[in-house]
Amino acid sequence: MKVLVINCGSSSLKYQLIDMTTEEALAEGLVERIGIEGSILTQKVTGRDKYIVKNPLNDHQDAIELVLKSLVDEKFGVIKSMNEISAVGHRVVHGGEKYSNSVLADETVMKNIEEFIKLAPLHNPPNIIGIKACKELMPNTPMVCVFDTAFHQTMPEKAYIYPLPYEFYEQDHIRRYGFHGTSHKYVANKVAEVMKEKIEELKIVTCHLGNGVSITAVDGGKSVDTTMGFTPLAGTIMGSRCGDIDPAIVTYLVKEKKYSIDEVNEILNKKSGILGVSGVGTDFRDIRSAIGNNNDRAILATDIFGYHIKKQIGAYAAVMGGIDAIVFTAGIGEHAPEVRIRALTGLEFIGIKLDEEKNDNQNVGNGLVISSEDSKVKIFVIPTNEELMIAKETLALIQK
Ligand code: ADP
Repeated sequence: MKVLVINCGSSSLKYQLIDMTTEEALAEGLVERIGIEGSILTQKVTGRDKYIVKNPLNDHQDAIELVLKSLVDEKFGVIKSMNEISAVGHRVVHGGEKYSNSVLADETVMKNIEEFIKLAPLHNPPNIIGIKACKELMPNTPMVCVFDTAFHQTMPEKAYIYPLPYEFYEQDHIRRYGFHGTSHKYVANKVAEVMKEKIEELKIVTCHLGNGVSITAVDGGKSVDTTMGFTPLAGTIMGSRCGDIDPAIVTYLVKEKKYSIDEVNEILNKKSGILGVSGVGTDFRDIRSAIGNNNDRAILATDIFGYHIKKQIGAYAAVMGGIDAIVFTAGIGEHAPEVRIRALTGLEFIGIKLDEEKNDNQNVGNGLVISSEDSKVKIFVIPTNEELMIAKETLALIQK
């Protein structure tokens, strides 16, 4: 069976066609500049040259049409006909409080995702467009929605209710939702698999450190708390997002510094975090070069990054009454030993002991253990694979 995974952004679309027997991606691709001049599709197939198509694409429907054409292309494709695609799994960012699992994209589901646009104004609209376009082009193929928020729906009330007037929750659904759920679920399950333990018996802290950063306490396979909140702006320091700050700073910037609300929004989302502190950039590789040149603020940004993660690990050890494993994933989690060492050093008193030599190993491949032999808590670096997780959820649902 083959499952197509679609992740639609506002002007881009990522896709993978996954063979569910081998769990390998037969093809993966990216369509960029949809609806903008210079639209381009790049498709990669192992062992072959990249396939690049430059075609004007007016909208996501055009883009998906081109994706399907590229997948069945006689010379560059990987399947003979679209009928080989058993189902399509769509990444949907916000499932509100309604969805704690993946669901078939029927009419009610589509209506609800539209309702959640107000909770994820940047993300849900392109996700919806992607599903509608696929339905149009493949009317007989099941479409499945896999939500970023779903995994966190198991959090207890005390973890997700904000100390605001309770009506804000009741009327406007203002609460902690959490994001990156597919990634947290994937790596937590991988840890259990590698440790040869039942996930129901493990307490795991999952650290997804990419452009966006979120850390989750996974107790017995369930998310019991996570750092991102009502939006993906909350939590620890990120590439260009501030994470948790004193909310009164917003009022101060508006009242005293006369910034408009839109400007404040732009500052907190796009000009803060690693970029804001270092003044260097959002890409951790640039921060690393700056550290090489003894750039004090790049060092400070990295110190803050590690410190925030460390505080969170401590907090989640308290939440779960201990930790059996910690896992690092996503761009920075997988490739930045300088962040991991800052996050883990000094936690020996709760049984966390890093092997510095193993931590420096850049060859993550299928995963890496970076804790020392005598560490009570096992520490892993595991590449995330959200696409495979989406495909697995999709397959499980259509086989039900
Ligand atoms: P997202 O999916 O959230 O956009 P990624 O998981 O791709 O993000 O992570 C992006 C981050 O990973 C960037 O900050 C980038 O600098 C960092 N990164 C990627 N490769 C490396 C590397 N080899 N060394 C250090 N940082 C890296």
